[in-house]
Amino acid sequence: MNAEILNPNELKKVAPVFGQLSFDNHEQIVFCNDKDTGLKAIIGIHNTVLGPALGGTRMWAYNNEWEALNDVLRLSRGMTFKSAVTGLNLGGGKAVIIGDAKTQKTPELMRKFGEFVDSLSGKYITAEDVGMTTADMDTVREVTKHVTGISERLGGSGNPSPVTAYGVYMGMKAAAKYKYGNDTLQGKKVLVQGIGHVGETLVEYVAKEGAEVFIADINQARLEEVRDKYGAIIYGGEDLYTADIDIYAPCALGATLNDVTISKLNAAIVAGAANNQLENEQIHGRMIREKGIVYAPDFLINAGGIINVYAEIEGYDKAETMKKTENIYNTTLEILNTADRDEITTHQAALKVAQERIEKRRKENNQ
Ligand code: NAD
Repeated sequence: MNAEILNPNELKKVAPVFGQLSFDNHEQIVFCNDKDTGLKAIIGIHNTVLGPALGGTRMWAYNNEWEALNDVLRLSRGMTFKSAVTGLNLGGGKAVIIGDAKTQKTPELMRKFGEFVDSLSGKYITAEDVGMTTADMDTVREVTKHVTGISERLGGSGNPSPVTAYGVYMGMKAAAKYKYGNDTLQGKKVLVQGIGHVGETLVEYVAKEGAEVFIADINQARLEEVRDKYGAIIYGGEDLYTADIDIYAPCALGATLNDVTISKLNAAIVAGAANNQLENEQIHGRMIREKGIVYAPDFLINAGGIINVYAEIEGYDKAETMKKTENIYNTTLEILNTADRDEITTHQAALKVAQERIEKRRKENNQ
């Protein structure tokens, strides 16, 4: 059958993996199935030129398997560039487990998943992502050593979120330096959307520096708790994308920078933890640049978590980890200046640094 003459839906049927829109020359995609535990998982290994593919496991009740495949392809690609731009000797990988983490996750299922990870002999190293906890990683550790984000009592680094928040804070300050000429956040109006593990610590850093912090979340109890702890203001407007703010920090969901929101956004800076903030990297990266908003690329400034788990492989040293995370400030500033000089989007500038590093190493490896 000639694939070229088929329409996209038909193509999907004959090219279920390599024909996916999100497929980007991934090296290996592993489908894991276990009848006894009900495990259905996909491990995506995007690129291992710089090192083993490290990236978390997400457990999510996907509507269908296409959605799960698409997610793992996108997320594993993102990990390649995140580690590359951060200067880590890691490739990009990610895993998804199809199912509801609240009702379908069992120790048996996690162990079985760990066995699949182990079968890859270290080419893929897992960690936690949405729907996973440090305790789950401890369970995986029972059957494989190719896991990070395990608890401190087992020699791990524990929860990576506070380190992620520190990196986002550094990226935000660098963006302020670029925009305003100095990096103080004192008196700036900062809106943090999503005050979960990362968002709450970010609120703490920003509030301590004297910013006026607004918070938004779908969880009312969390809003009140974080307000009381740090003196933050619960955002009361109807549409947070029209808020009168200086800095917007997306720390909940991806794709919040899109046709609808960018046209409304009043912020001068976007700097947050959420992955894949630009709904479409090219179109929305350009839109945000044309509007004069400084966008600190998500995969660059939310790398604190990967820096933290990477340190587990090298032998965990908290001070060294924080120093590396602090360097996100310098990298962000460099990327923002490069984007300006080359008249490209900040996302493209960060991607370019990552791709050049991978290409250089690929050539060295082939010599
Ligand atoms: P989390 O689940 O602890 O927190 C997310 C918060 O967002 C929750 O409080 C939730 O109620 C809120 N939320 C969900 N939908 C919302 C909506 N529509 N509007 C407002 N709030 C909403 O997650 P986290 O670990 O804090 O991670 C936050 C983001 O950062 C995620 O996108 C994650 O992928 C990304 N990230 C996290 C890390 C890390 O180390 N945890 C590292 C890199 C990237």
